Amino acid sequence: MKKRHIEETKTILREALVAHHPRIAIASSFSPEDNVLIDLALGLNPASRVFAIDTGRLNEETYETAEAIRRRYSLRIEWVFPSAESVQALEREKGLFSFKESSAARYECCGIRKVEPLSRALEGLDAWITGRRQGQGITRASLASIETDSVHGGITKYNPLAVWTAEHIRAYTEIHRLPVNRLVGQGYPSIGCAPCTRAISSGEDIRAGRWWWESPDHKECGLHLK
Ligand code: SF4
Repeated sequence: MKKRHIEETKTILREALVAHHPRIAIASSFSPEDNVLIDLALGLNPASRVFAIDTGRLNEETYETAEAIRRRYSLRIEWVFPSAESVQALEREKGLFSFKESSAARYECCGIRKVEPLSRALEGLDAWITGRRQGQGITRASLASIETDSVHGGITKYNPLAVWTAEHIRAYTEIHRLPVNRLVGQGYPSIGCAPCTRAISSGEDIRAGRWWWESPDHKECGLHLK
């Protein structure tokens, strides 16, 4: 892979960490992208913060990857959970799979399990860092490396891997022997909650396995809305 991508990414990360630490954190779902980001950030500042949202519906393989990352870096992952009362009410009133019934029901579940916990995770932060890339589908095609997150009070949102390709991520992961979610090798290039993620076939869009029953231009969960 081209060294230039890594150096440019390190520059963005270094400036972000210098400007904002400890009021900045990486949002991780332990995807290959997020693991690259964690490796780079901890190399620049071993005290870099990482938070993750445990929606309660994650794959076992995702928890295994999180554990591998935790052990590798002796990292204290800042897990954030949905409101127990909200999940309890949702499941009592609408069952365990309401998100399959309509887009509105899906956004309701993502709202409770992801969006509200994210808001709490971002409280007190001046900035956050994501592993999103432009190549991850049409909702991310024009992604900038640095944005203002108007949904969360105008804090800064860094996407240092915006221009990285899947091949760049693969190469970095192999060279640095980073942990990889076992599902990636089973056709899951994008992994979210277990019931809302499926494997994709060759030639399908990278996020085709996320909420596959919905239109491609709506494949965001509310975490990255503008
Ligand atoms: S991805 Fe699926 S299970 Fe997870 S929060 Fe969204 S709708 Fe609910």
